[in-house]
Amino acid sequence: MTSVDLRTPGELAEAERYTAHNYHPLPVVITEGEGAWVTDVDGRRYLDFLAGYSALNFGHRHPALIAAAHAQLDRITLTSRAFVHDQFADFCRSLAELCGKELVLPMNTGAEAVETAIKVARKWGYRVKSVPDGQAEIIVAADNFHGRTTTIVSFSTDPDARADFGPYTPGFKIVPYGDETALREAITPNTVAVLMEPIQGEAGVLVPPTGYFAAMRALCDEHHVLMIADEIQSGLGRTGRTFAVEHEGVVPDMYVLGKALGGGIVPVSAVAADRDVLGVLKPGEHGSTFGGNPLACAVGREVVRLLATGEFQRRSAELGEHLHARLTALLGHGVVAVRGRGLWAGVDIDPALLTGRQACERLAERGVLAKDTHGSTIRLAPPLVVTADEIDHATAQLTAILGS
Ligand SMILES: *Cc1c(COP(=O)(O)O)cnc(C)c1O
Repeated sequence: MTSVDLRTPGELAEAERYTAHNYHPLPVVITEGEGAWVTDVDGRRYLDFLAGYSALNFGHRHPALIAAAHAQLDRITLTSRAFVHDQFADFCRSLAELCGKELVLPMNTGAEAVETAIKVARKWGYRVKSVPDGQAEIIVAADNFHGRTTTIVSFSTDPDARADFGPYTPGFKIVPYGDETALREAITPNTVAVLMEPIQGEAGVLVPPTGYFAAMRALCDEHHVLMIADEIQSGLGRTGRTFAVEHEGVVPDMYVLGKALGGGIVPVSAVAADRDVLGVLKPGEHGSTFGGNPLACAVGREVVRLLATGEFQRRSAELGEHLHARLTALLGHGVVAVRGRGLWAGVDIDPALLTGRQACERLAERGVLAKDTHGSTIRLAPPLVVTADEIDHATAQLTAILGS
């Protein structure tokens, strides 16, 4: 396959001109998408191996999700939580059942759900654990990614995400990811929660050592600390299970969900926990105008229904093995490391060959969309509807750019 030059259409220049430069997108202007594929303004087709950072786990425009959205658009889209609508209870019940938790609290974006988890953990700490007022501590991991709000970037270790955005919210302790001893030593009587990603996506799809989350669970039980799993990117089928913590046989006290929960249609996020935790919130203490709106609930309930079949988790597990086998074969041939689980991979390209950005540009020229993280690492996370042939096609393009 010969590579084509990516042209710079007017839309790109226009977007550059009128928007803040808080992103550095690949020069591809997309007009349509279906399943694992998108089409650009010049009619070129690309395999989407980013899938909206896992917001598109079910692919672009999954028919069942689009149908649910259409049906709801024809009925009612927004009420605010000042009133109850007829899509709310159904969504919340089905999501709670999927999580095996008693309660859910719906929000919109991932960062809002993380903020919700932080607020709930702090209030739980004061009201249930009797931590002295203002002293609650939450333990987080180095190289975390939990979103972009001022409180969340306060405990980021990425200078790009954090610098110049202070003053910072206190109350967070940062420990190395995957280090059980450091976690144990960081816990104090004022620790209310440990908040971590079961796999660190932004950091390069880092999988912690086996047993780390089980040890975290035991430490949290021992010290009366809430274990909070940020499954916004790792959850909802991405790793071959509904939740990535299942690989460790662990159940957290609180799940934080987002991205795929909105089916790639609307932003939908949520936290899920039992009544003894989420029950600490009373009317007026937390909320969101759009959280749990009728359109979000209609789409989110259909997402939960798709996940309840287990089909997507199965696909991710089986095709993930296929993807990882193809990628592992590239070790020593331009690839220096491969990590991940299910249809999710962090691939370290030999830095002598290409930066991650260059690799993604070359892949885009060959019709495969992926995203670099830091340095020479790229991440691959196709929609869970991808086929084995499509994986072969994408990895063949990766092979080609490493050999050229
Ligand atoms: C994307 C992401 C977030 C933030 O979600 P937004 O919807 O972008 O606010 C938080 N945590 C993790 C693990 C994520 O991947």
